[in-house]
Amino acid sequence: MTAASPLLEARGLSKFFPARDGKGVVKAVNGVSLTLAPGETLGIVGESGCGKSTLARMLMRLIEPTEGKVLFRGEDLLALDHRQMRAKRREIQIVFQDPYASLDPRMSIAQIISEPLEIHGIENRSGRAARVKELLSLVGLDPSAADRYPHEFSGGQRQRIGIARAIALEPKLVVLDEPVSALDVSIQSQILNLLDDLKERLRLSYIFISHDLSVVEHVSDRVAVMYLGRVVEEGRAEAVLGAPKHPYTQALISAVPEIDAARRRNRILLSGDPPNPESIPPGCPFHPRCPFAIEICKSQYPSWRGDAASGAACHLVEDSGGTGTA
Ligand code: SF4
Repeated sequence: MTAASPLLEARGLSKFFPARDGKGVVKAVNGVSLTLAPGETLGIVGESGCGKSTLARMLMRLIEPTEGKVLFRGEDLLALDHRQMRAKRREIQIVFQDPYASLDPRMSIAQIISEPLEIHGIENRSGRAARVKELLSLVGLDPSAADRYPHEFSGGQRQRIGIARAIALEPKLVVLDEPVSALDVSIQSQILNLLDDLKERLRLSYIFISHDLSVVEHVSDRVAVMYLGRVVEEGRAEAVLGAPKHPYTQALISAVPEIDAARRRNRILLSGDPPNPESIPPGCPFHPRCPFAIEICKSQYPSWRGDAASGAACHLVEDSGGTGTA
C-alpha cells in the first residue's frame, strides 16, 4: 500500500430490507461511496433513520451489504471467508453508543478488555493482565479498575473502558458509533479529547457516526451528510460545515445553537415530516422539505456536483469538477 492509498473505500454500498407490509423494500442505505485516508477522521452525520449506523456496520461487515464493495487497505472484505474476516477484525474495531449496554455486567473490567486478546490468542495470562493495566492507563483510568465491575463506573468511565477494549488489538481503524451521545455534555468533551489523543499516539483512523453536528465538527477531517440512505454532501469538514452546498446540510447547521451565528444567519427550518425510509419520495428525496425545490426536483435524482473541497447531490449546486464521491 502506498502512502496515498485509501485505508477504507466503500463503493456503491447498499442495504435493502423487506418492508414491514411484506410488499416493498426499505432502502436503508442506497449506493454509498466513500473514501477514508490513513490518519483521517470521516464524520458521518444525519438524522435518526438516515442509515448511518447501518452503513457503519456494513463497513465492518457486521451487516452483509445487499450490493457494493468494501475495500480495506485494497482488500475486498466481502470476498473474505469467516476465518479470514475474523482475523481482519483485529484491524477494524467499533465503539458503541451506549456504554451501559455494551459492557457485560457479569464480567470484570480485566475480562472485558482482555477478551479480544484471548480470542485472537495474543499473550499469555500474565501478559494480558499487564496489557489490560497499560490500556486502562492509556484511556485515563487507574489500573486498579481491572478488578472491578461495570456497575461501579460512571457513563464516561464506562465509555473509556469500551475504548480500551476497542484499541486492545492495536487496530488501524475504529468505527465510533455515536460514542458521546449518551453522555453528559461536560463528559463529552473529555471523551472527545481522549479520542483525539489516542488517534495521534496510536496512529488511528476514525469513522465517526453522529447526529450532532457540533461534535462532528470538533473531530472530523472530512464529513459526509446522509439523508434517507444516501450521501447528499461530502467533502472537507471546513467546506461542508463552513459553506454547506446542500439545503439539507444548511438546515442541519441552522438547527445547532453551538455553531456560530454568522453561519446560522440564513436560517433554514426543516419543514414536513421527518424522513421515513419506508416511503422515500421520488426525484430528490429531500424535495418535500426543501425550501428551494424546483419542478425537476420532484422527478429526477440530482447528479453529484461540486468542487475540489466538497460536493453535493442537488440540482442547484454549481459544478466545477466535483469531489468524485457519489
Ligand atoms: Fe432541494 Fe432540489 Fe436541491 Fe433536492 S435537488 S436539495 S429538492 S433544490
